[in-house]
Order: sequence, then structure tokens, then C-alpha cells
Amino acid sequence: MTLTLTATVAAVLLAVGYYIECAVFPWGKCLKCEGNGKKMSPTGKHWRPCRRCKGTGKRLRVGRRVWNWLQRRHRDAT
Ligand SMILES: [Zn+2]
Repeated sequence: MTLTLTATVAAVLLAVGYYIECAVFPWGKCLKCEGNGKKMSPTGKHWRPCRRCKGTGKRLRVGRRVWNWLQRRHRDAT
């Protein structure tokens, strides 16, 4: 009983923390180019703009993407 309660409280705290983090810092580093915005070509001679982030080096975090989806859904419903 106590373990279940502790696990639930920990999960809720983690979810709230992640929610706040996504609200304050919606952008994360691109995982493909590690935030550089460019990637070395396969031959190793040229730098190319990262195709995943289109050269910005940023990506929208998963939590923020879910948040935006929920907001859009709510807006469309009303
Ligand atoms: Zn990138």
C-alpha cells in the first residue's frame, strides 16, 4: 500500500516536473546533429545542413508536441 502510494506520488511529481520543463524549455537539441544544425557527409569531406532539423539544430520536445496537439484539439472542439 505504502509502496504503491510512493510510486504514484513519484510518477505524478515526475510528470509535473516534465510538464513544467516542457513549458519553460520547449526546444531540445536535435538528436541527429546534436544541436550543430549540420552533419558531415558520408564521405567525410563536406558539412551538410541537417535534414531532420533543417539546419536549426533544434527539435520540439515530445512533451511540448503532445501539449501543442492537446491545445489544437481543444481549440478545434470549441
Ligand atoms: Zn539536426
